[in-house]
Parts: sequence; structure tokens; C-alpha cells
Amino acid sequence: MNSVAGNQELTARWQGALMNNYGTPLLPLARGEGTRVWDADGTSYLDFVGGIATNALGHAHPAVVEAVSRQIGSLGHISNFFMAEPTVALAERLLRLFGRDGKVFFCNSGAEANEAAFKIGRLTGRTHVVATEGAFHGRTMGALAMTGQPGKREPFLPLPDDVTHVPFGDAQALAAAVTEETALVIIEPIQGELGVVVPPAGYLKAARAITASTGALLVLDEVQTGIGRTGQWFEYQAHEGVLPDIVTLAKQLGGGLPLGATVAFGRAAELLRPGHHGTTFGGNPVACAAGLAVLDTIENEGLLENVKRQSATLRDGIEGLGHELIDFVRGAGLLLGIVLTEPLAPQVRQAAQEAGFLVNVPAPDVVRLMPPLNLGDDEVDAFLGALPGILQAVSGDGRSGE
Ligand code: PMP
Repeated sequence: MNSVAGNQELTARWQGALMNNYGTPLLPLARGEGTRVWDADGTSYLDFVGGIATNALGHAHPAVVEAVSRQIGSLGHISNFFMAEPTVALAERLLRLFGRDGKVFFCNSGAEANEAAFKIGRLTGRTHVVATEGAFHGRTMGALAMTGQPGKREPFLPLPDDVTHVPFGDAQALAAAVTEETALVIIEPIQGELGVVVPPAGYLKAARAITASTGALLVLDEVQTGIGRTGQWFEYQAHEGVLPDIVTLAKQLGGGLPLGATVAFGRAAELLRPGHHGTTFGGNPVACAAGLAVLDTIENEGLLENVKRQSATLRDGIEGLGHELIDFVRGAGLLLGIVLTEPLAPQVRQAAQEAGFLVNVPAPDVVRLMPPLNLGDDEVDAFLGALPGILQAVSGDGRSGE
């Protein structure tokens, strides 16, 4: 299938032609089917990274392939002076999943979804934003202004100012930072990029109460947790008493195609006026057709239940190993962080890859799993079966890393 170039040649060509914005050596991939991918040399792996929680149904899922082919074959891109059925249908469908009246703005990525939320915040007439330390909201300048990771921000200062970062999970600090001048508070229900960090119970509910009392909008960044990743359509639905004003989505929504959404409720849904915002590709029918296929498949195949079941098996299996390198597992659904007792996650990733499994490392002591939502029993068994050998390869030979 891919006789053009092997791993080495593709890597050399990549280095010659693409900007070095990621730094780490990238594994060249040639094709995928379900949870399995093949590199350019033909070696296959089980993909537990899932395009960073993006391939909701794995690679080349027939429902997505069919929907995209049908749509691009009839009406592809139309830009923002026109509109079409798949875009309207996806917006209606999302609102039904939220179970609330609201309005949707479609874009192409998570950063853009948050950028739109940031601009909606300004349209309240207030400018102050409260975000959390360690948060990741994207790389565009507004999203970066809300991102709480100093290393990512520093080269680009000055960013839009009037953003206060407070410790994640600390309701008192949040209450102290939010004032009558605060336009919006933005929170990830689980901080994925920081290492799958879960806030204490009641945090989101407290955030809702605090924002409601001062008239600030509560924005939940569900780019990583949304669309079934954590076992319900949106992670906030697992928390009682939390009705956000805005939810941002991307990643899984397009099932592999670039698709983001800013979903707003109540007064937040009415703030964008003609001329305020837009994007050429946002809501294009092909990406929206893919989105509809993703939502249909999650529903028709009972994937929210599958997420919960496979999550429990993975958690129990990983913690049940009782391996000295494993402290505990955190997260929800199929967004799991294996917290290690030592900062050896890069080495675990390398050993996993050599054993035929792709995993991800958001922090030196955390291995992140984000497999497709239709992950099968055999794939879970294969991972759990291989894990002792992977951990042994790391703790046994003291390898020094990448
Ligand atoms: N928000 C969160 C919570 C994310 O995890 C990410 C991506 N990792 C983003 C926003 C940015 O999404 P994108 O890369 O599509 O711009």
C-alpha cells in the first residue's frame, strides 16, 4: 500500500519540509483501521492515543467514510454566505444532546472554539477572564491568554491581558478571583494536557454558583472530555447542578475531520452579532456530515456504555497489576492517566511502542490513554497482557529514555 517511502526516508523528508514545532521524533504512520495503525515500514500498533482523544470511532470507520464520501460527492465546501442541511442538522442534534435551547457556532479546532468563547466574553461589556493554572485551551493568542502553562505563553507575551489564573480545583481561590467585572470563567472539567487531572467533587458546581452570583459566563472547555470520551455525552453531565453558559467542543466531534463548536445557552447565545466573528471553513457540510455519523454511531452502537465498561476493565487491570512503577489511575471513561511512582513516562511510551502499543505522555510521570470509544475487549486484553512486560522493560533495565 505504501511503497513510496519507509519510516527513515519519510522522517528525513519531514525534517526537510516541515517546521520543527513539536520537537520530539514523530512516528510516521501510513494507514489505520479501527484501533490499529501501520507505520511506513509496515509495523502495526494498537493506537491508544487516538489522535489525542480525537478518533472517536478509530480509523476509517465505515460510517464516517460513507458520510464524508456521500457529502463531498454532492455538496462540499460552500463558505459562510450559504448553508446546508448537514450543518443545521448537526447543530440541532448537539442541542438535543445538551437537552437545552441554545445556539451553535461551528469552526475547525479546539483553539478556535475557545477563541470564539473569548470574544463572546468581550461582548458582555466586561473584559476580565478567570482561567486555571495548568489549563490548556489552545495556541491562538486568545486561547493562549487563557492557557495556564507559563512555558507556552512566555515567547508570545504580551497576550491579551486581564486574565487571572487560579489554582485548578480550588473553589475558594476561584471565588476570590471572580468579581462583578469578570466576563467569563473557563474551566476544563478534567485537565487533559496537564496529565488527566481531575478536580475535587463539587468544584464545577461551586464554579457555577460563583459565576451565577456575579453575572460571569461559565465556559466549560470540553474539547478533550466531550462527545462521549468520559462515558456521557459531556463530562459536566456527570456533575449535579452544573449548567454552563458555553461549552466548547472539537476533537472527537469530527471523527477525524477538523470540526469545532462553541455552543452557547441563554443570553450567551445571543451576543454574537453579524460581523463579529466568522471562519471560511467553519460548519462546512463535509465535516458536519462526519460529525453526524460520529453521533449516530455512538448512539446506535451503545458506545457510552462501552466506554464505561472498558474504562473499568482498564483501571482495574492496570491497578490490579500491583506493579511498583504504578501509583494509581485517574481520569474518567476512556481518558485515563496512569500515574507512575517515578518520572519514567517517556520510557514507558518507548517500551510500549516497541511492544506494539501507542500511548501518550502529557507529564513526566503520567502515561495517557485515549483510545477510540469503540475499543474492543480483545484490544483491552492485549494491552493489559502486554503491560507487565512493558513496565518490566523500563524498571528492569533502567533505560535512560528517548
Ligand atoms: N482545549 C483542550 C482542553 C484541549 O485538550 C485542546 C487540544 N489538546 C485544545 C483546547 C485545543 O484544540 P486544537 O488543538 O484543536 O486547537
